[in-house]
Amino acid sequence: MKSIVLLLLCVSLSALPLQLVKKEGSKNAPTLLLMGGIQGDEPGGFNTTDIFLMHYKVLSGNVWVVPVLNRYSMLRNHRGVYGDLNRKFAYLSPKDPEYPLIQSIKKIITAKEVGAILHLHDGSGFYRPHYESPLLNPRRWGNSSIIDQDELPGVPFGHLKQVSQGIIANVNKSLLKPIHRYYIRNTHTAQGNVEMEKALTYFAIKHKKPAFANEASKELPLPARVYYHLLALEGLLKELGIRYSKDFSLNPESLYKLINDPSLSVVLNNNTILPIYGLRGHLNFFPMPKNTPLEQISLTSRSYILGLLPKQKQVWLKYGNKLMTRLHPLYLPFDHSLKSVKLEIDGKLQESAPAQIVEVHKSFKVMAKEGYRVNVIGYTHRGAKDEAGFKITYKNLDKRYSIDTEGRIFRIEFYKGDAFSGMVLARFL
Ligand SMILES: [Zn+2]
Repeated sequence: MKSIVLLLLCVSLSALPLQLVKKEGSKNAPTLLLMGGIQGDEPGGFNTTDIFLMHYKVLSGNVWVVPVLNRYSMLRNHRGVYGDLNRKFAYLSPKDPEYPLIQSIKKIITAKEVGAILHLHDGSGFYRPHYESPLLNPRRWGNSSIIDQDELPGVPFGHLKQVSQGIIANVNKSLLKPIHRYYIRNTHTAQGNVEMEKALTYFAIKHKKPAFANEASKELPLPARVYYHLLALEGLLKELGIRYSKDFSLNPESLYKLINDPSLSVVLNNNTILPIYGLRGHLNFFPMPKNTPLEQISLTSRSYILGLLPKQKQVWLKYGNKLMTRLHPLYLPFDHSLKSVKLEIDGKLQESAPAQIVEVHKSFKVMAKEGYRVNVIGYTHRGAKDEAGFKITYKNLDKRYSIDTEGRIFRIEFYKGDAFSGMVLARFL
């Protein structure tokens, strides 16, 4: 099982690079293309792709995942900063800022390997074939499996209605409440549904790709939306004969824990690290590379839905739609020569690379390193320009400088001359 990450295009923030992650099992089953986040304000979809990437293994067949199609709109908590991306598949002016993005999505959809497509949405209310109430009626989209037509002739898995029945059967056997029941919604797109003709799934259908959309209701809290999306996905995987395993049991409680995982972190610029959760609302004087466009700053994490959003003089760290902290950058030249540092932690010598979190019970001491200067943020030793060699206990540190709201995590920064070389975090247990 390999995971391959491809960045398909590089343009400005208006259409951030489209990320395609390939989870590949054995070759004897088809390839499903799974996509979320075509609308930036539908967190059920892109949190589902993220959970799938972090916690599922594909054993046979392949699942290609685009965790979020509209990353910029996701970072902005906006349905579509440049209009609805899911209405741009029929005709689009080459002058549209999302034209390159649409082209790269189309390229993935039409790739010869792709045997089926699942497109995740968060929809309003609860779809019902007949009017029951303002919340439950044929105009609503929530909790439905959407197909453009019953049959796509001459294509494996082209019995769209039959496959969709398999999807909703898998969901409906594990409903949290009876009102959540899934139904199939056939939009009969080819029979003159002008709106749906512009959408992603119909583009796929026209290119002989069996395509399904799944809607989880916006009435539901995020973990429940992800729960229903995953049930639908698992139902489709069964229909396609793609085998998988996962490292948790599927229920909203465990999904809540996985989405709000306190062990999630992000490495910026290969030399700086931040936990995602528990950060202060603002982090001041945060080293960022001088003269570097934000989209060129590398972010490495187990999660695929992190991003940086410029806001006046701040840079916001986003996890999906959620704001995790506001960085107030200190723009510096960056030096990439530092590979390891030595620390004495609770009396024991230990080596660390930059962008790591070390755990401390009582005290730490950063060992001097030739050519580099150490700055422990929140520690001042009168007259010392370099804070290497001092034994630092918890009470030596000014808690206001911790990066976390609990006052336990402190920045150890390394400099070479004026250039920033990297950061290690010391977390007091
Ligand atoms: Zn949607």
